[in-house]
Amino acid sequence: SGIPTAAISRLVTYLRILEQLEAQDQLKTSSTDLAERAQVSAFQVRKDLAYFGRFGTRGMGYTVPVLKRELIRVLGLNRNWNVVIVGMGRLGQAIANYPGASDYQFSYVGLFDVKPELIGQQVRGLEVGHVQDLRAFVRERAEADAWAAAHRVTQHVRKTVDLGFLAVPPEHAQAAAEQLVAAGIRGILNFAPVVIQPRTTGSGEASDVADEWRQVTIENVDFLAGMKRLAFYTLNPNLHYDLTE
Ligand code: NAD
Repeated sequence: SGIPTAAISRLVTYLRILEQLEAQDQLKTSSTDLAERAQVSAFQVRKDLAYFGRFGTRGMGYTVPVLKRELIRVLGLNRNWNVVIVGMGRLGQAIANYPGASDYQFSYVGLFDVKPELIGQQVRGLEVGHVQDLRAFVRERAEADAWAAAHRVTQHVRKTVDLGFLAVPPEHAQAAAEQLVAAGIRGILNFAPVVIQPRTTGSGEASDVADEWRQVTIENVDFLAGMKRLAFYTLNPNLHYDLTE
C-alpha cells in the first residue's frame, strides 16, 4: 500500500531500459537519462525508485547492472514463477508459444481447456489437460515441494504453481477464476474483458471477501481497453496523456 500501481508499471519500463543499456554496454545512467528514455520526469524516476530504497550515489547516478539487479529483486523476477494457462484457444496457444516469458523465470507448467479436441494435444511439449483436473494438478505439485522440503531433498526446480493466465471466453472467466483460486493460486493474469468478482461470504452489508480471495491479485490485460483509451486521446489530443498518476 502507498505505492501507486503506475509506479510499478514504470519500474518494469525502467528495467527494460536498463536491459537495453546493458546490451549496448552503457554501464552508467542517471535519473535524467532514465527519465528521458521512459518519457517521464527525473523527479518521477527518483520518486519511484525511492519507494524501494536508495540505489544510487548522490550526484553519481546509477550503475546499470546494479540498478538492474535491484529492480529484478524488487519485482520478484529473481525467482522462478510457475504458470498454468486456462483456456487454450487462439490466445492461450499464442501465449504458450511466445518465447519471451522464459527470458524471466516464468515457466508454463500446465495447460488446461474443456474442449475434447484440445485435451491431450501437445503445445510446446506440454499436454493440454481438462480443467476439472486443475485442482489435483496444483495440489500434487505443491505436495511434491512439501515432501522434498520435509525430506531435505534438493530440487532443481520448484513445482508449486504460482500464477494462472486466464484466456477463456468472457462468459466463463468468473467460473474459471474461481477454479484457479480454489486450487490455491493467488495471482491471475486475466485476458478476458470482464471484471472478476472476488467471492464473498454473507450477504448485503454483512458480506465479506472470502478468506481464500483476500490474498488474490488479478491483473487485467485488455487490449480493447487500450483501443478505447486511444480513441479518446486521439479525439482529445489536448488532454495530455498523464502517466504520473
Ligand atoms: P477462443 O474461443 O479461441 O478460446 C477460448 C478457449 O477457452 C477455448 O478453447 C475454450 O474451449 C476454452 N474454455 C472455455 N471455457 C473454459 C473453462 N471453463 N476452462 C478452461 N477452458 C475453457 O478465444 P480467444 O480468442 O483465445 O480469446 C480468449 C479470451 O481472451 C477471451 O475472453 C477474449 O475476449 C480475450 N481476448 C482475445 C484476444 C485475441 O486476440 N484472440 C485479444 C484480447 C482478448
